Amino acid sequence: MASIFTKIINGDIPSYKIAESDDYYAFLDINPLAKGHTLVIPKKETDYIFDIEDEEYKGLFAFAKKVGIAVEKVIPCKRIGITVIGLEVPHAHVHIIPINSIYDMDFKQPKLKFSNEEFTETAFSIKSEFQKL
Ligand code: 5GP
Repeated sequence: MASIFTKIINGDIPSYKIAESDDYYAFLDINPLAKGHTLVIPKKETDYIFDIEDEEYKGLFAFAKKVGIAVEKVIPCKRIGITVIGLEVPHAHVHIIPINSIYDMDFKQPKLKFSNEEFTETAFSIKSEFQKL
């Protein structure tokens, strides 16, 4: 059965899309740790990130770097933190998170709530910066 992220890529489930290439897709995390928290995924569905072959793995992180730079241009922060967890959704993904302290990467922190308008505006701004890169 297709993962929830494959359904997002196919447009069967909506997402706040940031960017897309032939092989990768980036969209806002629906339960973010920070404004601009973004997920970057390979379109080819693989559960565990270390099962991805090297070229696709390198491409994923190169795409995530570009997404992170775009996020950084929109969301004031000290750094962009990146992490891979993958315990909830069995479709490999990289978390891109604007951070000001190490605690901003703590997934035990309560998740933030944003309105549809706020998510849409954040995605639009990051997408615009991504397209300039
Ligand atoms: P992980 O698998 O890395 O532990 O966590 C999966 C992440 O995907 C979580 O941060 C969760 O909020 C996010 N997530 C789960 N389902 C959806 C969804 O349907 N849409 C979006 N945009 N994010 C999701």
